[in-house]
Amino acid sequence: MVSESAALHFNIEPTSNPTPADHRADLIANPAFGRIFTDHMAVVKYSESRGWHDARITARKPIPLDPAASVLHYAQEIFEGMKAYRTGNGSIVTFRPEENAKRFRASAARMAMADLPQEIFIQAVDELVKIDRDWVPEGEGKSLYLRPFMIATEAFLGVKPASEYLFVVIACPVGAYFGSGCVSVWVSEDYTRAAPGGTGAAKCGGNYAASLVAQRDSQSHGCDQVLFLDSREQRFVEEMGGMNVMFLRDDNTLVTPPLTGTILPGITRDAILQLARDRGLKIEQTPIEIDEVFAGAASGRYTEAFACGTAAVISPIGSLRRREGEAVFGDGKTPGDVSLGLKRTLTEIQSGKTNDVHGWIHSIV
Ligand SMILES: *Cc1c(COP(=O)(O)O)cnc(C)c1O
Repeated sequence: MVSESAALHFNIEPTSNPTPADHRADLIANPAFGRIFTDHMAVVKYSESRGWHDARITARKPIPLDPAASVLHYAQEIFEGMKAYRTGNGSIVTFRPEENAKRFRASAARMAMADLPQEIFIQAVDELVKIDRDWVPEGEGKSLYLRPFMIATEAFLGVKPASEYLFVVIACPVGAYFGSGCVSVWVSEDYTRAAPGGTGAAKCGGNYAASLVAQRDSQSHGCDQVLFLDSREQRFVEEMGGMNVMFLRDDNTLVTPPLTGTILPGITRDAILQLARDRGLKIEQTPIEIDEVFAGAASGRYTEAFACGTAAVISPIGSLRRREGEAVFGDGKTPGDVSLGLKRTLTEIQSGKTNDVHGWIHSIV
């Protein structure tokens, strides 16, 4: 049996007004996260009658939307976050893009949106990176952040899954996401992120909308980030607003909460678990009691903590704070050796400095 490829032909329509090279060089020299965008975007339309069609790479510009478009009312929206890296030999690569494509399909299924075949997802990203390749910055920690997303565009105010969607990919050059030190984290006892049966495992904008007030609350307590607990008992560690969380114990074990449906299955999380195994660490994916973390930080049983995700790779956690006290890891300021070692290995794979033994790298140009 011949399996039919879902790939589409992408019309390439270069912008008539590209950013001049010297201005572009200025823009990508030290970009603020998420504010500088490349010249182009990838767009693919979906309708129930035509399926995925009209695939193009075109000048980046506003998206015309009917005011009744369902995304504006019922938040049928999903997204992905991934990066293109410039390697030492001048090629440009992405990291496990098929995992992003798979997760995008899973998110779409949860939000009752159109299924986007993996091939089209990867084609759109690759074509955008190709045309905007000069926007991929060079240098440590720098990359081109890619933001694929899908919105429901059908103009209809009835509450039902839309029959029309738009898939778009935009890109922005980025430097390192956080500073090089440790972040402080507020443990939210007032807000939760996801409930069993909810949308916690889907990468949908609504999850972020619901987390913003908790993030703001964490800042009002002088912290950089927020950590959510389980919504049933407020007893177990779940994750941050946009990153997974891991702890190192003094018995050489890296522990992280299991993927039971309320936690976003991070691709960085998965890669770090593999790299930790490669280094001979033991891995536990098990429910983690927040009280145990606080007690363990004090007793020295919990030696390191970090958040992980595409944007920051690994963000070492210096301290966790809640109403009743503080948990400090190490001296609270200096990132732990294991956290830094895992970060170095992963970024070296992504930048082509270390052998890609797991086959994670996808070459574009
Ligand atoms: C995207 C995301 C992550 C991290 O996923 P990566 O694939 O590692 O970037 C973790 N938690 C949430 C809530 C996220 O949205």
